[in-house]
Amino acid sequence: MRDHFEIRDGDVAGRIGELDVPRAGVTVETPALMPVVNPNIITVSPARLESEFGAQILITNSYIIHKNDDLREEALDVGLHEMLGFDGAIVTDSGSFQLAEYGEISVTTREILQFQHDVGTDIGTPVDIPTPPDVSREQAERELAVTEEALRDAEDVDTGEMLVNAPVQGSTYPDLREEAGRAAYATELDVFPVGAVVPLMNAYRYDDMVDAVAGAKRGLGRDAPVHLFGAGHPMMFALAAAMGCDLFDSAAYALYARDGRYLTVRGTEHLEDLEYLPCSCPICAEHSPEDLRAAAGEEQERLLAEHNLHVSFEELRRVKQAIRTGNLIELVEERARSHPAMLDGYRALLDHADQLEREDPVSKGSFFALSAESARRPEVRRHHGRLDRLEASGEVLLTQGGTPKGDRFDAAWRVVPPFGPFPRALSETYPLTAQVPDRTDRAAYEAAAEGVARLAEANPDTVFVLAHDGWPETALARVPDGVELEPLDGVSPDGTSADDADETP
Ligand SMILES: [Zn+2]
Repeated sequence: MRDHFEIRDGDVAGRIGELDVPRAGVTVETPALMPVVNPNIITVSPARLESEFGAQILITNSYIIHKNDDLREEALDVGLHEMLGFDGAIVTDSGSFQLAEYGEISVTTREILQFQHDVGTDIGTPVDIPTPPDVSREQAERELAVTEEALRDAEDVDTGEMLVNAPVQGSTYPDLREEAGRAAYATELDVFPVGAVVPLMNAYRYDDMVDAVAGAKRGLGRDAPVHLFGAGHPMMFALAAAMGCDLFDSAAYALYARDGRYLTVRGTEHLEDLEYLPCSCPICAEHSPEDLRAAAGEEQERLLAEHNLHVSFEELRRVKQAIRTGNLIELVEERARSHPAMLDGYRALLDHADQLEREDPVSKGSFFALSAESARRPEVRRHHGRLDRLEASGEVLLTQGGTPKGDRFDAAWRVVPPFGPFPRALSETYPLTAQVPDRTDRAAYEAAAEGVARLAEANPDTVFVLAHDGWPETALARVPDGVELEPLDGVSPDGTSADDADETP
């Protein structure tokens, strides 16, 4: 058990958690966004990040501080909290990024962890190797072995109350990510960053990012707090949270601002292209695009950075509310519509529906079927799993309509795409209370047909009659031969309400 992390609520694999950071004396509510503070270039002061944006935690780079004589002396002298002017939790990176960029750095894991401890870091990081995507498997394995050695070194350093990150690497090999997750989880370290996914996100490979995270999550225990390293674009917070990531860090707010870029939950805009500001944050409420363009250099950078932070924290609150309400997938689905690469990410998420299903709450608010992808949601998988165990005997009508008159059938079950059949007694239970569009899509019919097949397979001696509203051929092809088909109005001439109760045997 990781006793410094507690899960309070969940939806899909996403969760609201509490991360206790003993050295800072604070409890951080997750999912949390950690603004990246470059000690050399402060765009928005940490004190303002805390008071105006509600940041409970930030991340800075201990290697940059270690390398710079003035910063190092100041940090050792007064400590990071005073140096940055921040009372929340401070995470420090180790220089792994510099290692990946420049091929070598001048410190070891033991040295940099000791340094992080000495300057008052609350969550420190060993020197791991961020293996980039698409390298040979041999390279990924070799570098993973070095990372795992760094984790063992980290365990040996006496870091007192400081929590320590155990990065999970493995490049674009999901099985290596899983192995790395298992090895990291077996250590006594505390927080689990999934590393080296930035190149995937920069290249809009959200599907590969999802596969890497899913691999890492399979290896990690459910109680492991997971940091998606370098995930700073608000467009992908919902997707990453749904995978079970608890911490995000944003350098994007400042880096994009420096480049004249304006973040939105639907993507990135260039300030020069904006005729309107699609946002009501304090910056956008008080400025026109012309004002922002007219602001020079650092002032423009600060204004854009503040907007970028507002939109990021706003999205994070929206994600947390969606977890509380139980409609995180609906939010992911909405975000997936903003870019084809996000849609790929959502589709990759659904490839892991079985894995997600194990953590997804059995009951929540409402299921909105919003697209063909909805038919692949974990709740549909779970219902199909349940159909394998439901008993039906005699002659059973499976109908999209009401209860038939007469006594031809022993029972009449409802059929609702994309779930398929269920006894009427379950009508009021989640997710069968789903709101589905009247203009049903093919994928939903096909999923419903699979449900019929699962039920028929589980009850080989039962006679099933399926009364359907004109299913497409591709769906009917999935209904087993033994199931009799009837047009819907053939069995329910009076159009009896589907809500009429009829208990099952
Ligand atoms: Zn704004």
